[in-house]
Amino acid sequence: MMAKEATVTASSREVITVDVTLPGRRYSILIGDCLIAAAGEHITAVLPGARCAVVTDANVAALYLAPLKASLEARGVLLGDAIVAPGETSKSFPVLARLSETLLKLGVERGDCVIALGGGVIGDLAGFAASILRRGVRLVQMPTTLLAQVDSSVGGKTGIDTPQGKNLIGAFHQPSLVLADISTLSTLPAREFGAGYAEVMKYGLLGDAPFFSWLEKHWQQVFSGQGPERLKAIETSVRAKAAIVEADEREESGTRALLNLGHTFGHALEAYAGYSDRLLHGEAIAIGQNLAFKFSVAQGFCPPDDALRVERHLAKVGLPSKIADIPGKAPTPGQLLRLMAQDKKVQGGKLALVLVRGIGQAFVERDVPPDTITAFLKTECGSA
Ligand code: ADP
Ligand code: ZN
Repeated sequence: MMAKEATVTASSREVITVDVTLPGRRYSILIGDCLIAAAGEHITAVLPGARCAVVTDANVAALYLAPLKASLEARGVLLGDAIVAPGETSKSFPVLARLSETLLKLGVERGDCVIALGGGVIGDLAGFAASILRRGVRLVQMPTTLLAQVDSSVGGKTGIDTPQGKNLIGAFHQPSLVLADISTLSTLPAREFGAGYAEVMKYGLLGDAPFFSWLEKHWQQVFSGQGPERLKAIETSVRAKAAIVEADEREESGTRALLNLGHTFGHALEAYAGYSDRLLHGEAIAIGQNLAFKFSVAQGFCPPDDALRVERHLAKVGLPSKIADIPGKAPTPGQLLRLMAQDKKVQGGKLALVLVRGIGQAFVERDVPPDTITAFLKTECGSA
């Protein structure tokens, strides 16, 4: 069941392959630095005969659409492209409707494929469009943000937002192939890179203490992109996510819930900040992870030193770690608890939280009493 290892050398550059094996299907995640130019070759090998429609946003289109189209055209498999506005607001019913019609007009048929070129927004939106177009067409994810490369492009979750909440409408739709071209990260704004790094850290904190220690030592190279460390950090993250998805594709056995470390607190903070530039998802998750560690210490599960290491590392890499780090007015404990209770992971009114026994030892604690959380949040919101 574990993701298998294979290293291929393509035109003297390293391409790492992580295979994801699910009941009845299997796909590969390729990680390397020349995958946009080689996309036509890789896609035609996996999906012979399929023609491709590229979905991207205006920012990514300006940077990477032309080389991708050239690569697809060289193989004679380009149908066309659809460009949406950048940002979370594109994950909506109106944009999905327009995009679906554009894809039909481009002539996408059952055997064809949608390519999602961009960050998590494009992966979720284009992935969902692919899942419903003609009752489902093939999907290739080409993530261009760190967050999408290590997290959202792996595992098959797709969807859009509604006024009732984020990602409440969607489908599981596994890609046929993921091409993570890490050279695209060179143009990613530093703040977006940092936000993605919070998810990289998460894999160390939830189940791989040696990886977290390695990050403590090598984070500077991961951020600078000089040397092999960035590739290694992405590979390690993708392998961790792939293994969890293999063990629990549809979040049924509880294993996949561990990926929510920092997310119940984080989602509440994100909602409080209005899903805006005030607090990016990864920044909210950085604070959320620190809160999960501190809460675990307060409950007697985790040694205080481990929580200190997490807080120190967040400070070193320039990520927020405290509720007070969010610009503007601080939320009240009551506000946060109400937002936490709206989390998708709530079942029968009981709050499940991912807690830790230490770095690399996450577990799901069901039925955490709301009063315990409120008391903890009082200290954290600075109103104790
Ligand atoms: P995420 O992957 O964090 O969910 P988005 O899909 O919203 O986020 O992407 C974040 C922002 O970064 C968007 O404005 C998007 O257009 C932009 N973007 C995505 N990939 C790149 C890249 N490789 N270089 C520059 N900007 C990018
Ligand atoms: Zn996340």
